[in-house]
Amino acid sequence: MFKAWMITRTDAEGYRCTLSDLDESQLPAGDVTVQVEWSTVNYKDGLALTGRSPVVRQFPMVPGIDLAGTVTASRHPRWREGDRVVLNGWGVGETWWGGLAQKACVQGDWLVALPPGLTTRQAMAIGTAGYTAMLCVQTLQRHWAEAGVAPGSGEVLVTGAGGGVGSVAVALLAALGHTVVASTGRPQEADYLKALGAAEVIERQALAAPGKPLQKERWIGVVDAVGSHTLANACASTRYGGAVTACGLAQGMDLPATVAPFILRGVTLYGIDSVMAPMSRREVAWAQLDALLDRHRLEQMTREVPMAEVAALGSQILAGQVRGRVVVNVNA
Ligand code: NDP
Repeated sequence: MFKAWMITRTDAEGYRCTLSDLDESQLPAGDVTVQVEWSTVNYKDGLALTGRSPVVRQFPMVPGIDLAGTVTASRHPRWREGDRVVLNGWGVGETWWGGLAQKACVQGDWLVALPPGLTTRQAMAIGTAGYTAMLCVQTLQRHWAEAGVAPGSGEVLVTGAGGGVGSVAVALLAALGHTVVASTGRPQEADYLKALGAAEVIERQALAAPGKPLQKERWIGVVDAVGSHTLANACASTRYGGAVTACGLAQGMDLPATVAPFILRGVTLYGIDSVMAPMSRREVAWAQLDALLDRHRLEQMTREVPMAEVAALGSQILAGQVRGRVVVNVNA
């Protein structure tokens, strides 16, 4: 038997999320079984745990889009018992039983080897949020390399900076030598964001309301976890030839923008998806996270919780009340 969060939906009881005892024989028929050591709670897990959006598409479902642990059995040629692995996305926690459990049975093709310099706990402190931040930063790096933009030659904006994607993006961009401007709705977290490497902290409100199609040119690049007017304003204030990476929708899924920044300033808007990103891109992202992310800063942005607290965190993360990252000790 093992412990797992379990989401059920029935006519009689509606949408329910309970901490349950499951038998290993109930696990889905993947080709690798993993003893999960750490998991986490991302924004999408919040949607699944609360049922706020239809993220979970099969019932019953074990939520958790991330896990890190040790392989205990494998029929996959790449993995052997004892291998340490990380899993992000691929529909896990949505259409396939996920990581908020002590055991998981998944497809070996979805697994990334734990980078040599990271523990399973650190990998989950990074989680999908941090790995997505890395995908955004790598996209900006490719754009800047082509455009001949050097670190320090302008400011980079990170929105939703107090959240998971935002906190890791701030730390990564600062580690690369960029001047990072962190936008947050929580000005009380200014010291936290500066400790992660932000040069300046601005109020979310400055970007959240409808703005002009073209604004003062400021950013050489943007990591946006927020969407809606914030993303439109970020594009409108990006410098000539700059780039914006859009990965989130914490403010909204809409994009009330004009084409002006794209056709008059040559701004590029990149969409970032972590869930179905090809394995080659994931491996490069995890290797760079291992090489670049300051472990002290990672620990500063991370809070540890036992399994019992997971359901409450689902609502808190959707309310924008979770700072940085959360790791879940699935054995506590
Ligand atoms: P978090 O909740 O940790 O971070 C989101 C942050 O956005 C909050 O902390 C808050 O930061 C800010 N925010 C919240 N509500 C609003 C609002 N109404 N208006 C403006 N800002 C707001 O979530 P994650 O970091 O886990 O995820 C961030 C976003 O990225 C989510 O939308 C998520 O779905 C998406 N995502 C997408 C991925 C992909 O593959 N494309 C992968 C991972 C995440 P502050 O208080 O500092 O303003």
